[in-house]
Amino acid sequence: MSLFPSTIFLSFGSGSCGNCYYLGTPDSAILIDAGVGIRKLGKAFNDYGINREHIKAILLTHDHADHVKTAAKISKQLNVPVYAIEAVHAGFLANKYIPGKIDEAHRQIIELGKPLQIADFCITAFPVPHDSTANVGYTITTGDSVFSLMTDVGEVTPEVSQALQHSTHVVLEANYDPELLRTGHYPFILQERIRNGRGHLSNHQCAQALIQNYHPALRHVWLCHLSGDNNTPDLAHETVQSLLSASNIPVGTDLQLDVLQRSKTTGPFEL
Ligand SMILES: [Zn+2]
Ligand SMILES: [Zn+2]
Repeated sequence: MSLFPSTIFLSFGSGSCGNCYYLGTPDSAILIDAGVGIRKLGKAFNDYGINREHIKAILLTHDHADHVKTAAKISKQLNVPVYAIEAVHAGFLANKYIPGKIDEAHRQIIELGKPLQIADFCITAFPVPHDSTANVGYTITTGDSVFSLMTDVGEVTPEVSQALQHSTHVVLEANYDPELLRTGHYPFILQERIRNGRGHLSNHQCAQALIQNYHPALRHVWLCHLSGDNNTPDLAHETVQSLLSASNIPVGTDLQLDVLQRSKTTGPFEL
């Protein structure tokens, strides 16, 4: 039995120091990305009363270390498969800087656009532009909720917009404030990598995407993967909230807006 009577979402870490998200019903759960240390994750499982046997799979978005560095260990420890598109598995295998490889028996493929049922979750992967071998977002239907997660988003594509238009719950990147990036200590070449359409989404781009694709069934938005140098949780929340409010989107009443902390657990949130 889970301690949670409903479907919940938890973030164990979000950003360049490590990403891992939990989505669980009272009976089963999945993890999305595995870039948080195994001891830290084990402690969070204990702290939040998470039943490890409920976790049925790990989904990977892309093959950057902050999203995959503990995937092999976690999959072994929990004895669960790791799903990713073929290109992400290949990129992970070829990356000699990421220690430990996922056991072959646990390496499973999810195909773009092809719904896959795992326990209580119907999962569809869609492409998201980023400077990794490949990157995907996931739309996950469970009960009445449609949950979409999009991290490390170079730019808002029609696929990203479509996911926003169909979701009741959204995790979307708000990586940087353009002014902090421009005036900060990052060299120009690195600034360009972040801004160039295969890097990351700014607070303003995130807000614009939400405004352009807003619909009244959207209930909760979590801002993820904030930069530690070029953003702050307050600035991201304030920027997105004020742009949404200026477009008559009622934040705080019909729509909840939260920021995921970089290296601490955020949540649990009920869906
Ligand atoms: Zn990342
Ligand atoms: Zn990345």
